[in-house]
Amino acid sequence: MSEHYIQVAIPVPMRQLFTYRVPTSLCSPAIKVGERVVVPFGPRKVIGLVIDEQAECNFEPNKIKNITGRLNDNFNLSKQLVSFLQLCAHYYHHPVGDVFQQALPVLLRKIENITLSPPMVWQTKTANKEQETSLKKLEKKAAKQFSLYQLINSHHGISWVELRTLGYSKAQLNALQSKDLIIEQEQVVSQFSWQEDTLNQADKLLLSSEQAIIVSAINSSLSSFSCHLVDGVTGSGKTEVYLQAMEGVLAKNQQVLVIVPEIGLTPQTLNRFEQRFNVPIALHHSGLNDKERLATWLSAQQGSAAIVIGTRSAIFTPLHQLGLIIIDEEHDSSLKQQDSFRYHGRDMAILRARQLNIPIVLGTATPSFETLQNALSGKYSYHQLLNRAGKSNKAKIALIDMNHQQVEFGLSGTLKDEMKKTLARGEQVLLFLNRRGYAPAINCQECHWLAECQRCDKPYTLHQKQQLLICHHCGSQKRVPPQCPSCGSVRIAPLGQGTEQLESRLEELFPDSSIVRIDRDSTRKKGELAKLLQEVSDKKHQLLVGTQMLAKGHHFPDVTLVAVLDVDGALFSFDFRASEQMAQLLIQVAGRAGRASKPGKVLVQSNYVDHPLLQDLVHNGYHHFAHQALTERKQALLPPFTFQALLRADSNYPSYPEKFLRALTLRRIEGCEFAGPVPAAMEKKAGKFRFHLIIQAKSRKDLHRAILQLLIQIPNNEWQGKVRWSLDVDPIDLNW
Ligand code: ADP
Ligand code: ZN
Ligand code: ZN
Repeated sequence: MSEHYIQVAIPVPMRQLFTYRVPTSLCSPAIKVGERVVVPFGPRKVIGLVIDEQAECNFEPNKIKNITGRLNDNFNLSKQLVSFLQLCAHYYHHPVGDVFQQALPVLLRKIENITLSPPMVWQTKTANKEQETSLKKLEKKAAKQFSLYQLINSHHGISWVELRTLGYSKAQLNALQSKDLIIEQEQVVSQFSWQEDTLNQADKLLLSSEQAIIVSAINSSLSSFSCHLVDGVTGSGKTEVYLQAMEGVLAKNQQVLVIVPEIGLTPQTLNRFEQRFNVPIALHHSGLNDKERLATWLSAQQGSAAIVIGTRSAIFTPLHQLGLIIIDEEHDSSLKQQDSFRYHGRDMAILRARQLNIPIVLGTATPSFETLQNALSGKYSYHQLLNRAGKSNKAKIALIDMNHQQVEFGLSGTLKDEMKKTLARGEQVLLFLNRRGYAPAINCQECHWLAECQRCDKPYTLHQKQQLLICHHCGSQKRVPPQCPSCGSVRIAPLGQGTEQLESRLEELFPDSSIVRIDRDSTRKKGELAKLLQEVSDKKHQLLVGTQMLAKGHHFPDVTLVAVLDVDGALFSFDFRASEQMAQLLIQVAGRAGRASKPGKVLVQSNYVDHPLLQDLVHNGYHHFAHQALTERKQALLPPFTFQALLRADSNYPSYPEKFLRALTLRRIEGCEFAGPVPAAMEKKAGKFRFHLIIQAKSRKDLHRAILQLLIQIPNNEWQGKVRWSLDVDPIDLNW
């Protein structure tokens, strides 16, 4: 019998596949593409993924090792998913084994047999007299428990993961259970069969004609690839469009994948989907443990989940009957992974939709310039929602010139007056400050010594409550020194203001109002964000302080005043994308105001109110600004009119990264240009010196060719062993 070889992807930083022999003892049943096998690699044993089940052997047969085991479980990848992941690896020139590694749930990367307990869901019991009485009591006395009951009651079964993501607690669930109102049961897994009885019709809205046109455009192209940009301000009814477009897909027994930014997966978003569809929904986000993630993966693959909602890596979920992909907030930078495998969730979603020949919908109020250009040039179908749905009006943005204001704790007189008026009306105020911690620096008032992180050469941020100095670049921490280490003075003081400080200043200024701070520090605990957001919507707090976490996706119907305390940082950045990102953030923040029927106001504080970017944005709106900026990018030959990759290198020694990159630029590559090597904007981080090189080409094809040529050169580069390098195709952050 001839020998049987297979090709396998292994989680190692090499861009090739590996050939192994399948010993006769492991030959049957036949090995398939997408199966996980155990293979020896050096002294270790690792999980490999079969990419080709019938490989030719181009090596000395006696140098080839045998696979040592097969996992034989339910978790094999489909051929289709394998080829999608290969496309991703190819697009980013990333080691294919690492792509598989990152796409697979953690538990599938281990050489272990996995036991998953069957999925459990909560259901309501048929209520008898006694239970009806306790329900009536709940309705009056325990509103939250009652709403939990109602939610469970409107579904055939809903999982603890969903309930938890919606902000409900185990205690509330236990309370209902002890009253004998609900019961936990094994989920009845019926695969790909949710076409009947899926829709809770009552909540369905009558579409505006703008919305109806979009839904029918999406539904008329369900079995072919098309990319739709739904461009509409916050509150214009995009989510309603998604929901109604999904209806047609679910009715065909197909699945829908919804991708949201990490921060966007809030109770409010999920709630809309739960209320509308009575179908199994699987979730994928950072609040899940490894087993829960695997359960999502499996239910998506087996077809027991009709809808998968998740953050960027959900794009790698196996879905056999995928009929539609929706990317909400397509401009959001959290869709791009910023380390190791640097993929963009939106771009890979488009690739996947193309592979499967299905439509994809991108929604946003502030399209990324890449997407906008594709829509304007006709590559995507461009749909605009120009009016806010429902009753609310668009909030007005006004600039406050800080040069002509009495400023106290970063608040101008004008802003303070507006805050007082808003609070007096019983409405809420949102203050946006994109700097967490107490102060972005501390210094000595005698000798001006500045506390700096030595590994990054950047000031430490003061976190007052913890009495710690924390470097926001590398995470290193240190106690606040009692004295200046340079001159011995005890007059060490904070410099500038962060959200923690703003919160405590507001307590002094507005002693009668309750203040809530929402940033990465205040929401570190699991479930804390959901809890705080709930408190805001229950109107327990009148003043909201936060970083960009507050800017995105949330609905605050009673916030009628939004203020951006300091917009200036973004106006003078060297990264050509900084102004795009600033504009998006500003419009997103502004979108938080006046969502319900009450009119909203947005105030933006700046020392440079005449800056043309600000003026254009405030007076002419995002789209005018974006068109203008696109014209400039075209003239300057910048993306999206050209294509870039960024080669980064760092080392403990300052000269190595530069030498490594420079050597790569010596040979010209046709169709591409180099910019650099130059020191990164943060030249030093965590003790490493950093340089980067931009590779730019007029076409994507040229860029790929150039990257391939560079990658070939690297093994012969005399500095390559002395630096750490990485490649970023379509980089969005040149500041690194
Ligand atoms: P977006 O996703 O663009 O922020 P939503 O879909 O959340 O917008 O809609 C904003 C508000 O308007 C929601 O309260 C929604 O219920 C309401 N709405 C959306 N579409 C309609 C419609 N066709 N008729 C009435 N109200 C609508
Ligand atoms: Zn000093
Ligand atoms: Zn540091």
